[in-house]
Amino acid sequence: MTVELISVGTEILLGNIVNTNAAYLAEKIAILGLSCYHQSTVGDNEERLEDAIRLALSRSDIVILSGGLGPTKDDLTKEVTAKVFGRELYEDAHTKERIQSYFDQTGLKKEITPNNWKQALVPEGAIVVDNHNGTAPGLILEGEGKTAILLPGPPNEIKPMFERDIAPYLNRLQPEGIYSTMVKVCSIGESKAETMVADLMEEQTNPTLAPYAKTGEVHFRVTAKAADEETAGKLMEPMLQELKKRFGNYIFTMDENVTMEESIVDLLKEKQMTVTTAESCTGGLLSGRILNVPGASAVYKEGYITYSNEAKEKLLGVSHETLETYGAVSYETAREMAAGAARSAGADVALAVTGIAGPDGGTKEKPVGLVYIGCFVKGKVRAEEFHFTGNRSKNRDYAVIKALTLLRE
Ligand code: ATP
Ligand code: MG
Repeated sequence: MTVELISVGTEILLGNIVNTNAAYLAEKIAILGLSCYHQSTVGDNEERLEDAIRLALSRSDIVILSGGLGPTKDDLTKEVTAKVFGRELYEDAHTKERIQSYFDQTGLKKEITPNNWKQALVPEGAIVVDNHNGTAPGLILEGEGKTAILLPGPPNEIKPMFERDIAPYLNRLQPEGIYSTMVKVCSIGESKAETMVADLMEEQTNPTLAPYAKTGEVHFRVTAKAADEETAGKLMEPMLQELKKRFGNYIFTMDENVTMEESIVDLLKEKQMTVTTAESCTGGLLSGRILNVPGASAVYKEGYITYSNEAKEKLLGVSHETLETYGAVSYETAREMAAGAARSAGADVALAVTGIAGPDGGTKEKPVGLVYIGCFVKGKVRAEEFHFTGNRSKNRDYAVIKALTLLRE
């Protein structure tokens, strides 16, 4: 079965926004075992949108459109697709009620304008997919052996909708659906991780195992072909057990949507521990990653950016002697920064990063990319040395991911 993507929006054509929806959808479609041979982008223009939809339907079984479902005049996707399918629009009572309660819940009641109700209009015979993160519903139109799937543009709306309703719908269209689980591993290099499961990758056909390397992490996708999700789950179970046996604590999550920092915040919550950070070369990137996690306030109270030696002394109590003797980029300083941060913030756990991000500041003894990470956990403090080989921004990113990894260990 072939799927084609149409991204709708003049902002995409003009380069004002990056078309991340197409990348997201293309990847998901491939994972579902469907073929995608065409992608296109079209502006908020009725005629060109109609042409694009007709062309897509002429050569693909399923067309997924993203964007242009909003309340404003330039949002035309629904109207034009309905026209192509020869359907009238009617007001869907369920959607109207959902939009009303969305506004009630978000405290935006006063913001309702008459054009918001435009989003309650749906084409006759369409399957309405509830939007749990916004007002515009997703819509599925079927006719003459072809399907159009209309999804909202904002990434925070399209992603959960795709996961929850569209992926299962696409799977139901195929005699055998493709189901997958992600096992995410940290602290092990990519080649070592692959070697550890080489036999599983070679021998297995259903489920299959495929590795993906990400900065500081390795993700294994376990994919099964089956008539339904439950059967797929049973097929995958022995493989998942085997991965658990081989990687043990290196597995930080078995949920595709959970990030490293989320798994850490969860772990700290579970252990009722608090964390703080003291950053030199990463200048807030590490705390930023942790605080990106919703609910991080339960585990993170305060942190420190101590770029200069003076700041390391003043805010973290790093001794003048340590800085003089070993320098700011050293095991000793990283350890004292971590211990000092934990003390100042009254936290159970502290991470400290000090290093030379580059491009300047490196010496023969202490080259660019040298980073020390200190880790304090309930009275015990240790530090590790790393040599990164990227540019300034990469080195800072590596330092953050290594610090998070160290915390998990
Ligand atoms: P809204 O109700 O917000 O108007 P919509 O379904 O009409 O949603 P658009 O108006 O096309 O969608 O886009 C709304 C916002 O969603 C854009 O400003 C942009 O931030 C984001 N967006 C839309 N399309 C894409 C895309 N292809 N990739 C990434 N972001 C997108
Ligand atoms: Mg819009």
